[in-house]
Amino acid sequence: MDCIFCKIINGEIPSSKIYEDEEVLAFHDINKAAPIHFLVIPKKHIQSANEINSENSKTIAHIFEIISKLAKDLGISEGGYRIVNNCGKDGGQTVNHLHFHVLGQRDLKWPPG
Ligand code: AMP
Ligand code: ZN
Repeated sequence: MDCIFCKIINGEIPSSKIYEDEEVLAFHDINKAAPIHFLVIPKKHIQSANEINSENSKTIAHIFEIISKLAKDLGISEGGYRIVNNCGKDGGQTVNHLHFHVLGQRDLKWPPG
């Protein structure tokens, strides 16, 4: 499958990995929108948030558990951070493999553009 994140998972494309287990991978975003900006993805290809269902929601819960752990490890838990999922065209999704952005270490504005 021609999916850039699947290629990162199988090692075809290098990434700056932060965390990995059987179910998920976390790595630094190549185009940082904040001093700390990493992505957490399921290893199993899921297209977008539209495809979250009772079969895979345990993995999504696990992703959030890992985000909480990594935010502590990277020192942004106290200052705060933002978890973002862009879904589909209007959501601004550019990579069609479900991913959660974690942004921190800067005063993020709301609402986003
Ligand atoms: P989205 O617009 O929500 O689909 O986000 C896709 C994100 O993937 C963007 O923030 C990109 O900078 C990031 N990205 C694309 N290719 C890579 C890569 N090879 N390594 C790390 N991050 C990437
Ligand atoms: Zn994929």
